[in-house]
Parts: sequence; structure tokens; C-alpha cells
Amino acid sequence: MKNLGNLFVLSGPSGVGKDAILERLLRGVPNLVKSISVTTRPRRTGEEDGKDYFFVDEETFKKMIERNEFLEWAIVHSYFYGTPKNFVEKNLKEGIDVLLKIDVQGGLSIKKIIKNAILIFIIPPSLEELKKRLLKRDSEGKEDFNIRWKNVPLEISKIFYYDYLVVNSDIDSAVEEVKAIIFAERCRLTKEKAEYWINKLGGKIDEGTINR
Ligand code: 5GP
Repeated sequence: MKNLGNLFVLSGPSGVGKDAILERLLRGVPNLVKSISVTTRPRRTGEEDGKDYFFVDEETFKKMIERNEFLEWAIVHSYFYGTPKNFVEKNLKEGIDVLLKIDVQGGLSIKKIIKNAILIFIIPPSLEELKKRLLKRDSEGKEDFNIRWKNVPLEISKIFYYDYLVVNSDIDSAVEEVKAIIFAERCRLTKEKAEYWINKLGGKIDEGTINR
């Protein structure tokens, strides 16, 4: 049976700790890769081109849109962000799980294109805590903070469209919860999987109810 990879989407308001969670997941979960997005946002101190993002100018980004190189793209906090299509499709085809750290607009677009994508929403334990974490990130100015802070209610209101919710009060627990989601989803039964194993182990196909 050809095993296709799962597509996991990680979203949540700025400052909630998505990057820290993602970094630990990549170290702790085998057969999982992160998609590196393309963005027009200026590089923050410590960020590397090709590692954190592919940093491009607006003209380049728009050409990439024209050439249909994105699986999804969106304007987030006044900058363009997009998920490169080739990287995601190649890995999924090879049976490797792919993780996207994208905003809620991106998450909703992905769900429309890839029906069995798994959407995980990360939330802070409180607004006060989120503000504290966001203000600690001093690489961006006050204006940037204001834009990100203003977007929080809009992002939070999209929780309904997600499959899983993880509260990041404590990073270790949050990482364990996301790992649990990934491992559980890997064991999820699909029609193809059921048929494969029934045939392999000499059973008889009995059309039961499988959701996917
Ligand atoms: P940041 O500038 O803090 O790295 O990211 C800002 C927001 O853009 C975050 O919510 C992040 O998840 C989102 N983002 C990053 N890459 C992409 C992408 O390729 N597509 C979309 N839709 N959002 C993205």
C-alpha cells in the first residue's frame, strides 16, 4: 500500500509559542518535516534565509503567485506569506508528514484544498499572558505589536474551523499534546488502509463505516 503523508497545520495568534513548539516537534518526531514559507516580511535578528523563511521582495512574491507556485498564500500583518506547493506535495507523496505553521486564513484555505489536512490551533492560557509574551519579543517595534495585537480576536474567532485545540500554558505539555495528535492521526484508519490490511491478512471486505 502506498502510504501518503499527513499534512498538519499549526496556527494560533502571534506570540503564542508556535515556533518553540515546532522546533521541539521537529527534533522529537520522526518522519516529519516543516515547510519553509516565503515571505515579504523583513528578516528579524537571528533569522536565516532558507531556514526560517525564504525572504523575498513583493515583486518576486507576486511573480510566484502568477506562476502558481503556492499551495496557499495570504496577507498577514501587512506582509505576504505563502506555502511553496512543490515541497509539500513531494513530501506527502513520499509518505513524509508535513507541518505548516501558517495563519488562520492559510489554515482555512488548506482545509478546502486538502480535505484530510489536520488543523491544530494553539492558544495562550489568557490574553494577559499572550500580551506579555508578545511584548517580550523586542525584535519588532510598537507599530508591529499593535498590528499583531489587533489581529488576535479575528484569529481566535476561527477556532471553530480547527480539528484540535492545544493550550500552551506550559511548553513541555503543549509539545506532548501536539505529538499525541500527530501519533494518533498516523494510526487513523482510512478506507485504503483497512482494505490493504484485510486483504493482506486474509479477511473479507465488509463495507463498514470509515470517516475518511
Ligand atoms: P511571523 O511574521 O511572526 O513569522 O508570522 C506571522 C504570521 O504569519 C503567523 O501567524 C504565521 O503562522 C503566519 N505565516 C507564516 N507563514 C505563512 C504562510 O506560508 N502562509 C500563511 N497563510 N501564513 C503564514
